[in-house]
Amino acid sequence: MKITFHGVRGSTPCDAPHLARFGGNTSCVLIEAEDQPPIIFDLGTGLRSYGVSLRDTGRAAGFRGSVLLSHLHWDHVQGLPFFEPLHERTSVLDVYGPRQSDGPLTEVFAGLMRPSYFPIRPDGLAGAIAFYDAGDDDFPLGTAKVRSRWIRYVGPTLGYRVEWNGVSVAYLSDHGQGCVTGDTDDYVSHDVFDLCDGVDLLIHDAQHTAGEFEAKRHWGHCTVEYALHVARESGAQRLALFHHDPFRDDAAMEVIERDACDSAERKGLREVFAAFEGMVVELEDARHAGAV
Ligand SMILES: [Zn+2]
Repeated sequence: MKITFHGVRGSTPCDAPHLARFGGNTSCVLIEAEDQPPIIFDLGTGLRSYGVSLRDTGRAAGFRGSVLLSHLHWDHVQGLPFFEPLHERTSVLDVYGPRQSDGPLTEVFAGLMRPSYFPIRPDGLAGAIAFYDAGDDDFPLGTAKVRSRWIRYVGPTLGYRVEWNGVSVAYLSDHGQGCVTGDTDDYVSHDVFDLCDGVDLLIHDAQHTAGEFEAKRHWGHCTVEYALHVARESGAQRLALFHHDPFRDDAAMEVIERDACDSAERKGLREVFAAFEGMVVELEDARHAGAV
C-alpha cells in the first residue's frame, strides 16, 4: 500500500517561503494499492496536485476512484472542482461522507457549490460524482475494507480505517479532546479504538502545542501529545502528525517533530513523523511481510 500526502495543512491553504518544506495545501491523502482503485482521504486543496499528476501521466480520462470525506469544512472540500479527472466526461468519483441532518450529501454539496459562492455546481462538472451518506459503517471498496466511525469534533465528522491485504491505515484528520464537555483530556472513545487498533499507520490531527491548547480547545483540534496518546493506547505502529496549523513555519514544525520523536521513544512508539506535502509512505502488505 502506498500512501501519498498531497495536502497536510489544517484550516486554510497557506503559502510562504518559510512554509515550503511542509507545504500549504489542505487535507488530501491518497492510498494506492495493486489491483485496487485509488482511495482518497478528503478533498482539500491538495487534491488539485493529484489531479495534475493524473493528467500528466494520461490517467485523468476514465478515472475511477473513491473519496472518504471526514467532514464538510472548507479546508476539506475546496479541491473538488479543481480535480482534473472531473473535467473529463469519462471519469467517475464516488464520495463517501458524514451523514448530515439537513439532507442527503448530494443536496448538501449542491448547496455548498453553487452561485454566488462558486460558478459551477457539482453536476456542472464533466465527470460524474456520486455521493454516499455514511455513519458508523463497514463497507468494501474494491478489495479494501473500510470502517467509518463518528469522532469528536465540531460538527459531524468521521474517522476512517482502510485495510487491504493485511495492511491498515487510519485517518482522523480533525479530532480533538476538547469538544465534549465532561470528557477528560486523555479520554479516547471506543469508536476511535475501533479505527486505530494496531493500525500500521495512524494519520492524526496534531494542530496545537500543549501551550496553545487552552485558548483553542473549542476549535475541536488536539495537541501533538494527544495524538501520541491515541497512537500509544491503540497500539498504532506509526503515527503521522497531520493537519498542521497554517501559521506554523517549517522551523517550528521541525521542533515539534523532534520533540514528538523523543516522546514517542520514551513511550515505546515505533515511529512518529510530521507529514509533509509530497511525502510517500510505503506499507508492506501481508503477502510480502517476512519474505526474504
Ligand atoms: Zn480541517
